[in-house]
Amino acid sequence: MTRYQLFIDNEWVDPHSGRWFETENPFSGEVWAEIPRGDAVDADRAATAAWNAFEGPWSRLSASDRGMMLHRLGALIERDAQHLAEIESRDNGKLIRDVLAQVRYMAKYFYYYGGLADKIQGHVVPMDRPKVFNYIRYEPMGVVVSITPWNSSLSLTAWKMAPALCAGNTVICKPSEYTSASLLEFAKLVVEAGLPPGVVNVLTGYGSEVAEPLVRHRHVHRIAFTGGDEAGRRINKMAAEGFKRISLELGGKSPNIIFDDADMEQAVNGALSGIFSATGQTCVAGSRLLLQETIHDEFLERITTIARTAKAGDPADPKTHIGPMTTKAQFDKAMDYIDIATKEGARCVVGGRALTGPGYGAGQFVAPTIFAGVTNEMRIAQEEVFGPVLSVLKFRDEEEALRIANDTRFGLAAGVWTQSLHRAMVMTQGLRAGTVWVNNYRSSSYTTPFGGFKDSGIGREGGVDAVREYMEPKSVWISTDLQMANPFGSR
Ligand code: NAD
Repeated sequence: MTRYQLFIDNEWVDPHSGRWFETENPFSGEVWAEIPRGDAVDADRAATAAWNAFEGPWSRLSASDRGMMLHRLGALIERDAQHLAEIESRDNGKLIRDVLAQVRYMAKYFYYYGGLADKIQGHVVPMDRPKVFNYIRYEPMGVVVSITPWNSSLSLTAWKMAPALCAGNTVICKPSEYTSASLLEFAKLVVEAGLPPGVVNVLTGYGSEVAEPLVRHRHVHRIAFTGGDEAGRRINKMAAEGFKRISLELGGKSPNIIFDDADMEQAVNGALSGIFSATGQTCVAGSRLLLQETIHDEFLERITTIARTAKAGDPADPKTHIGPMTTKAQFDKAMDYIDIATKEGARCVVGGRALTGPGYGAGQFVAPTIFAGVTNEMRIAQEEVFGPVLSVLKFRDEEEALRIANDTRFGLAAGVWTQSLHRAMVMTQGLRAGTVWVNNYRSSSYTTPFGGFKDSGIGREGGVDAVREYMEPKSVWISTDLQMANPFGSR
């Protein structure tokens, strides 16, 4: 059994509480590591270390040197991708091949933002008066706290850490209590990459015990949160108390809309991978499938037939399609929604049950589930399940598809499948979501912004502009007029 320590100021330290909690492999049920239970004292130590690093060695580095360090970190992630992926998959139960692809891709965030570090330019402002020179500098905010959920601990942290460091901030990471080990393993690379002490810190523990004191800490200036809306709302309020800058990446109930002129083969694959990838435990899951009435029955038949062939089992087995639910609470939530959907009158055409027996280890498995006959006011169409449960709705034309798709408090993502350029344009303009995919689903990249409309969040991650979300503009006025007037008119 591995007993981890906290990573503060480039040192491994025991938690102040003297307490650890256990982490479990969701497939085998094996308790394989002990995670430090951080508290407010640890939060203070980390915030102080991060602030000292920000004011000290980190700010003395040139932007180019800072960028080189991010490159080194990227190369080390690539080198250790297999190890990091195995640890993360052991903690969250996601398929090892998916996690490995994610970790390899994570390295690219560090290359991209490493390359950007010395290209963030200020500018000179054309002035409305003579004899003054005004320019804008973009400066780092200070200490950034990254708070992440259990579904993609490493990548969701990289989305925040890479642009934050690129901009010259220092970072404290607080991973989910269910999946802390991969970030603690990652922290070893921070030392090897040569980052000065305090630039990256990893604090583990429960949200209320260690993340809240971090959010409130006077040396913390910016919060980058991904998670559920309950915690997001709470953190948003706390951050507002201290006028802290914040970004929130929250949940979704994303529509995946199939028109009758779509390439059916592609659309079938897109609909299935949209909901069942990562066992549906992703914020962008295409959990509302909107089918045009002319193809509804045939399309439903095709996805149902394929969903029956999905192989659930060991995430380490390359033949597995569906892994276990990461936590018991998440399993219970998915099963509750299956119950709710049935009571609401939706028709379960496949799945709708837990999977047990040989091949499932000690895991909590939910069979890939499809509900037909869903209407948009049902809870199964409005609330996030975060599991392999698809709701199928019917629509007549573009107008009705848009009305249904936008009738939700969320606005994270949407998919449109059509071969008509006109339809694609009408839909991409009308959909109220931060990401819209046409004839593809779940694509993501460090080069483009990601984030939500409405209750799906505030702010964007990814792309060049993400760096500015971690910077403050400073307006500098330089007078070229040596005749400063006496305000009292006397000598
Ligand atoms: P969660 O909100 O319970 O936890 C997320 C993080 O917040 C954890 O690190 C947790 O310890 C911390 N936290 C919880 N309560 C806190 C508090 N009071 N103060 C400070 N920190 C607190 O979410 P989860 O169950 O781990 O993840 C699932 C949710 O994440 C889903 O709703 C999903 O949609 C969302 N998600 C969103 C995105 C996105 O990019 N939009 C990506 C992945 C997951």
